[in-house]
Amino acid sequence: MQLINPATEEVFTEVAAASPADAHAAVESAQRAWEDGWRNLAPGKRAEILFNIARVLREHLEELAQLECANIGKPISDARDEIGLGARVFEYYAGAIGQFCGQTIPVARGGLDFTLREPMGVVAAIVPWNFPFPIACWKAAPALAAGNCVVLKPASLSPLTALRLGELAHAAGLPPGVLQVLAGPGSAIGDALVTHPLVRKVSFTGSTEIGRRIMELASRDLKRVSLELGGKSPNIVFADADWQRAADTSPMSVFANTGQDCCARSRVFVERSIYEPFAERFIAATKELVVGNPALDATQLGPLVSASQRASVEDFLADARKHGTQFGCGGKRPSAKGFYLEPTVLLDVDKSTRCWREEIFGPVVCLVPFDHEEQMLRAVNASPYGLSGSIWTNDIRRALRVARAVQSGVLSINSHSSVHVEAPFGGYKQSGLGRDLGMAAMEGYTEVKNVFVSE
Ligand code: NAD
Repeated sequence: MQLINPATEEVFTEVAAASPADAHAAVESAQRAWEDGWRNLAPGKRAEILFNIARVLREHLEELAQLECANIGKPISDARDEIGLGARVFEYYAGAIGQFCGQTIPVARGGLDFTLREPMGVVAAIVPWNFPFPIACWKAAPALAAGNCVVLKPASLSPLTALRLGELAHAAGLPPGVLQVLAGPGSAIGDALVTHPLVRKVSFTGSTEIGRRIMELASRDLKRVSLELGGKSPNIVFADADWQRAADTSPMSVFANTGQDCCARSRVFVERSIYEPFAERFIAATKELVVGNPALDATQLGPLVSASQRASVEDFLADARKHGTQFGCGGKRPSAKGFYLEPTVLLDVDKSTRCWREEIFGPVVCLVPFDHEEQMLRAVNASPYGLSGSIWTNDIRRALRVARAVQSGVLSINSHSSVHVEAPFGGYKQSGLGRDLGMAAMEGYTEVKNVFVSE
């Protein structure tokens, strides 16, 4: 497969695409590695290897960040943060191994009852192109920590850091076969992985459409699945909030990663009394964002990942224009070369339009005013998605009431952070099933066995 640098539109390297036969071979060798030792390795030894992987990743941080930057146009400072996050995830799960416990249960008939958390076997981890490295680590680290072997499939657009992760993990002491990386299009090797009888769990992050297909295929032999899917997250700003801070920080809550973020706060609900000044300040902050060469430290927004991703975003903008939507700023290509698109603010957006209803996955945000909390919450929850969101208010009772009412797996109050290594991450409704990160992810890579011992 040829890989194109999205900032230059030039082919910069090639990687071998795996075939369905390669996928089968990888699964079978992962199963052998599991049976031959990984499943029974002493927890302390597993932890030592995972800590080593984290150390080796940090030693290669700059190399990995440069790969990500060239491969998907990720701004280099974000790329460095994301490699660091991946290493931190390995450290967290290395530390978690020694604290991952079953239960002893006081059963009514007496005797001793306890549970074991056992690994499943081979896990297929399928990841998207927008955060290739951290999401690969979110899946591989807890699955390995729990005693599984992993076959990792990066997106065909973004295989480089995943392939390097495989090499570095083995250099750090992971036995052969325990983590394997297969580059290739999901359409060619996805089915081979998802339907292989030795794969016991499929852990997927990507679009809702492919997630649905994976769930259907996995249902044939009742494979376990976890799905982290799309989003259309709300950003709710009440008049009593520090709305100036909200206006200054909210553009990056949707435009970071050039809007290619499942947690993007792409629907902004603003209480009517502050709507005009908020929108003005939001637009001013958007215009200050540094869009350009992702290899430069100061760049905040790089190009979109591909020509087709930009074309898909431009289709949404064409639809907005057709419906007479007001553009606060953006909407154009800022340069002739590279798959760039200006960050775009749409105002007073009609809730029946595509831009309001569908995940755009590009640098486009919709602002609307609201008058009543209940009416606003109905509009928030009308989305089929429920991944993330922010609530801005200085009234603690309102903050808690609204946080409980929003149907979403991850929320932040007076902040835009969604991801904490130690806390569960995942969606309600069509945003997914199961959780990444935290102890919840590690639990999700195990089966629970209950054992009763008679007195
Ligand atoms: P995608 O669904 O097109 O691809 C995701 C992965 O699935 C890729 O590795 C792809 O090769 C593979 N794939 C494609 N067809 C397959 C098949 N038939 N069987 C098995 N695997 C197959 O998604 P994308 O375009 O890479 O990523 C964008 C989407 O991911 C967005 O919808 C975004 O919201 C979502 N996403 C969600 C999260 C989250 O944590 N909820 C995080 C990042 C991205």
